[in-house]
Amino acid sequence: MSHSIGHPSPVTIGTAAISFPIALTVDLHAEDRPADVGRAARWLHERGIPATFFVPSALFMHPGFRPHITDLPSLNHEVGSHGHQHDFTEIHALMRGTAADLDFLRQSHMLYAESFGCAPVSFRSPAWCPLGAAAIDFLVALGYRVDSSATPQRLPILSSTPYANTWVSARRSVHELAPGLLEVPTSCLLLPAASPTWLTLRRRAASAFLRLLLWEARRSAGRVPCVQLHVSDFVSDAAPPAPEETLSLRSFLPQVDGGLRFKVFLRERDPQRVFRMTQELIKALRGQPEARFVRLRDLDGELIYRGLRPLRR
Ligand SMILES: [Zn+2]
Repeated sequence: MSHSIGHPSPVTIGTAAISFPIALTVDLHAEDRPADVGRAARWLHERGIPATFFVPSALFMHPGFRPHITDLPSLNHEVGSHGHQHDFTEIHALMRGTAADLDFLRQSHMLYAESFGCAPVSFRSPAWCPLGAAAIDFLVALGYRVDSSATPQRLPILSSTPYANTWVSARRSVHELAPGLLEVPTSCLLLPAASPTWLTLRRRAASAFLRLLLWEARRSAGRVPCVQLHVSDFVSDAAPPAPEETLSLRSFLPQVDGGLRFKVFLRERDPQRVFRMTQELIKALRGQPEARFVRLRDLDGELIYRGLRPLRR
């Protein structure tokens, strides 16, 4: 039995109503303020929105971040893996490294198990870098069930890896990237449906862009809107983390690692405007008929049940 994920009206199989699943994801980074993790998590929880927080595992050991991160499951959020250090060494390894280069994934997996008493289910590469064959095999071997690294049809020149294929020909629908590993692409069209895009486009254009992606998802089989934010987007009283670099002529030349850096200076920094924009984006998501927020790990079982993924084990 199979139905399109974006079916516009609810369909019932057995006792489960099929609605319009939407995945909200929040990527954490070392430059975030630790307390913002808890604030963002509670803000979402109070509104009945479960989310997937992608966390670089080095932060599990950080005394400021750790209590907020280990608290996330109690607020009904999923903690996924966002690499270990989230740096260009890991990005290179994920794109074209060998199994030996990818050992940080094993380390990261162990740290996760020690912190949460269970294995991680979902993975997102740092900066949505493309995954090479060795990285995909490694993720499958470690038991990951969901990947959300793909940004279908993203423009490489605007990414952090401008000379790599940034998922330009990737499929837009949910699909199996490898046996047992479900790809839930981050919604994308030239730009990802993600915090850096929202902060660059500003409120009205960001909202229009999101509505365009939602319109597409509702009309195409197998699409699950998957939207990314940062914890600073949920905080109205402090500016998002400042760029670590200064603007120079070099900022306008695409760097192999980092791309066109001037883009980070284009982003909105007024915390109240950022927060208002986040509220408007969430409102657009919640306003979708039959909208139902899901953690990425929930999609795995759900898609098996709905016949969109074969049951393999
Ligand atoms: Zn990241």
